[in-house]
Amino acid sequence: MIVTVRKNSEKQNVERLIQQLTLKGLEVNYSEGEHHIVLGLVGDTTGVDITWIRSFDFVQEVTRVAAPYKKANRQFHPEDTIVNVAGVKIGGHEKIAVIGGPCAVESKEQVLRIAHEVKDAGASLLRGGAYKPRTSPYAFQGLETKGIEYLCEARKQTNLPIVSELMSVDKVEEFEKHVDLVQIGARNMQNFDLLKAAGKMTKPILLKRGLSNTIEEWIMSAEYIMAHGNPNVILCERGIRTFEKYTRNTLDLSVIAIIKQRTHLPIIIDPSHATGDWSLVESVSLAAVAAGADGLMVEVHDQPECALCDGSQSLKPKKFKEMLEKASQIAKVIGREL
Ligand code: PEP
Ligand code: MN
Repeated sequence: MIVTVRKNSEKQNVERLIQQLTLKGLEVNYSEGEHHIVLGLVGDTTGVDITWIRSFDFVQEVTRVAAPYKKANRQFHPEDTIVNVAGVKIGGHEKIAVIGGPCAVESKEQVLRIAHEVKDAGASLLRGGAYKPRTSPYAFQGLETKGIEYLCEARKQTNLPIVSELMSVDKVEEFEKHVDLVQIGARNMQNFDLLKAAGKMTKPILLKRGLSNTIEEWIMSAEYIMAHGNPNVILCERGIRTFEKYTRNTLDLSVIAIIKQRTHLPIIIDPSHATGDWSLVESVSLAAVAAGADGLMVEVHDQPECALCDGSQSLKPKKFKEMLEKASQIAKVIGREL
């Protein structure tokens, strides 16, 4: 971290700042130039509040050199993290994971039917929302505990580990007991109490990027989970909000390479929420595989026109299977396997 101090500052004020920084365990390298004084801070600055340093009126500028995250940082952990979800490995250089299933669990029969279909198509995990974060309070909110129960039955019949969204801290126990991969949705990416609770769980966490969050904010949310004790975090890009109206969100494909450069965590792509349109899902999924994604999470419904949530972006099982066959060809080209 580099702190630029105004040249005409009172020496004892600057010394006071240096003393406080030293007390935080940092080494402060002082150098006086023609127009400024520069303090170079050496050591672990992740816990240093940049706005606190800016609050000294003689400080002109503070620049971070190192990233504010440590546990998620590739620099301190060069190998890829491979997250084991009930026996299915996500991350690394070989296998690409496929999560398929309905947006929401609507009934036992519905989730069982779709679970068998996605398994037959080649998916290795089953998704399904039991607690749904809906924009309207009048929209279907999910089957809640019953939904989790039906997912467990689907897991029993298919052997597919289950992925479901945890929306509040008071459901942590239920998810810890039943769910294999705990999803934190886009709307809760910065629900810090929920992130801390997820950090105390033993189950792996699927952390979606917030609707309007920067990559650094997203990594910092992963850091929250990791700092509270859970190293098993998978990131999921699901598109961000832009001015564009032809898609539900705008898929930021560059994040795959950026996340891999900056962190050691696996990253998967959700082409369904990214586009909001089933007819775009295949193209975006193929691009994600080509760009190095460690997995795909795709919404699949056998009767999209009757779906209680997100039917318009759901692939029918046959289309899902065809898409995975193409994706598997692309995976081969880049030396991976779907
Ligand atoms: C979902 O995956 O069911 C979901 C609600 O997605 P997001 O949080 O990305 O909107
Ligand atoms: Mn959905």
